[in-house]
Amino acid sequence: MGMRDRGVEIKSPEQLDLMRRAGLVVAETLEMLRGRVRAGMTTADVDALAEACIRDSGATPSFLGYHGFPASLCTSVNDEVVHGIPGPRVLEEGDLVSIDCGAIVDGWHGDAAITVSVGDVTARLQALMAVCEEALWRGIAAARPGGRVTDISAAIESSVQGAGEYGIVEDYVGHGIGSAMHQQPAVPNYGRPGRGLKLVPGIALAVEPMITLGGVETDVLDDDWTVVTRDGAWAAHFEHTFAMTSAGPWVLTALDGGRASLADLIGP
Ligand code: MG
Ligand code: MG
Repeated sequence: MGMRDRGVEIKSPEQLDLMRRAGLVVAETLEMLRGRVRAGMTTADVDALAEACIRDSGATPSFLGYHGFPASLCTSVNDEVVHGIPGPRVLEEGDLVSIDCGAIVDGWHGDAAITVSVGDVTARLQALMAVCEEALWRGIAAARPGGRVTDISAAIESSVQGAGEYGIVEDYVGHGIGSAMHQQPAVPNYGRPGRGLKLVPGIALAVEPMITLGGVETDVLDDDWTVVTRDGAWAAHFEHTFAMTSAGPWVLTALDGGRASLADLIGP
């Protein structure tokens, strides 16, 4: 089946430059939030900071109004995995909060997420975050021009499994991204390599491992958005949007394009 038959969007260099602008807005917003999140803030406070940053950059929040979603960020605390709605919840010392952010520039999207601790957290929680972020970078590093989508999936899975006892959430996965936030193909966080779409230049994907300190089962709360672990285990979520180029992955939502993190994994 050809790529067009799969509904996959191949971006021109000019379109990728617009996606880079959107990606940088997301990167700068998350970097700002990383330094601002603290105990006593509500998740709505965090969302307000993000929306102001996105709009001051001349971009539009991707999430606001997406299928009726009421905020600019997803904020998912502790046992919440993804899609938490910002609101009156007050962040407390020792919490983990996963912050997912999307921005649109001239119709082109960027999408990324980080998990941050509120004040000091236990070594186990620090490890959870580090393992998730490492798996994200190992997944992106496994994406080579001419490779396949599940090369990313397999690298994420083996990275997490090699790190210890963690659950890899399977109900939610990464995705193609471009003129819409969610496009084909799906990018699972597990599976055998060498399958799925060929990673040709102009492909853009959001890679987003979600891992837990317990099981992999999830439920959606009565707000119809918030995804929680069924067993109450705490979770972490890291995400980047990257574009494939002839020289390898270009991480559109990393300030340095991913250069530093990828150099450690695939060489300069
Ligand atoms: Mg996201
Ligand atoms: Mg995403």
